[in-house]
Amino acid sequence: MLFKDIVGQEQVKQKLIKSVKEGRIPHAQLFTGQDGTGKLALAIAYAQYISCQQKGEEDSCGICPSCHKFNKLIHPDLHFVFPIILSERKSDDDEKGPSGKLSDAFMVQWREVLLENPYITEADWYEMIGAENKQGIIGTTESSDVIRKLSMKSFESDYKTMIIWLPERMNQQAANKLLKLIEEPPQNTTFLMVSENPTQLLKTILSRTQVIKVPPIHRESIALALVDRYQMNPSRANDISRISNGNYRKAMSLISVEEENPYFPYFRSLMRLCYSNDVLGLLDWVGEASSLGREQQKELLTESLRLLRESLMLNMNLEDISYLAGEEIDFGKKFSPFINQSNVYQVFAEFNSAIDHISRNGNAQIIFTDMCMKLVKMINK
Ligand SMILES: [Zn+2]
Repeated sequence: MLFKDIVGQEQVKQKLIKSVKEGRIPHAQLFTGQDGTGKLALAIAYAQYISCQQKGEEDSCGICPSCHKFNKLIHPDLHFVFPIILSERKSDDDEKGPSGKLSDAFMVQWREVLLENPYITEADWYEMIGAENKQGIIGTTESSDVIRKLSMKSFESDYKTMIIWLPERMNQQAANKLLKLIEEPPQNTTFLMVSENPTQLLKTILSRTQVIKVPPIHRESIALALVDRYQMNPSRANDISRISNGNYRKAMSLISVEEENPYFPYFRSLMRLCYSNDVLGLLDWVGEASSLGREQQKELLTESLRLLRESLMLNMNLEDISYLAGEEIDFGKKFSPFINQSNVYQVFAEFNSAIDHISRNGNAQIIFTDMCMKLVKMINK
């Protein structure tokens, strides 16, 4: 992972690079901040920079033998610990354990998910290992293994790096076991902990680390990355960066939502037909909507409600909390004179009642016709 591949965060990068150049690498650091800011990616890029054999002023070289291994996350002096789901048949995780109790057992999936998207969330990770709705932990067996690994000499690099992702998932015994090591690690060893909830960490651990605050990513940096990486047009990139609130993971998920929103054209034409009072056009619309499957009809109505709600916020100048993007924004602005605080509750109620009737297997043609005729009246009042 190179620093240049991480979106924004110039100040944090400079600080980390400076510590290496000045030979003052703290033995335990805690990267904190909300999700989607690139904390984990920064920790990995930092470890790579420490180990790189031909460091540049601003970044690792990317091509030396050390970088080659870091690029695939297989460097023998780079260690990872992260929450996993302990196998259920053993309750006592102090036991000398099967490999299923260690992060190492999940290393293949870990590398795969991280190389594809270093902005993963805890939920993404559990989904990857098929453990949705469960919460992983870092157990005491893991702590023992950390101690074992760090007591060995480094293999290839001058430095050994132990990256602990979400140390707040360590149980108390596991954390206690690591205290001494974190306080006095072997020479040329650095702990990089990456936490979303540092308040849940043991105070004794917290007090032994140097905190690196990773702030939300600047809007401009996210927009720039979207233009660069996805060839997105700048105004759309701006919209998405505004909505994503400094969270690059969210920006990426918004792109896929936007690409997959097939209902917007339906909604747009429905609203146009309503405010131009085009009854024949509306009957055609009803024909089209009725030919969709029942689940799609429900999605169409639910999505319309979302678009209405967001447009209303936009028209109340609450742009920062409106989740509309691109074409949706233009349209939302144009139809603002027609949907406003005076009729919006009735309009919402009409959509909700249509969803209700569709869910109860009512006749779609009748339900949509009825809804359209009422909307025309409300909108042209
Ligand atoms: Zn290198």
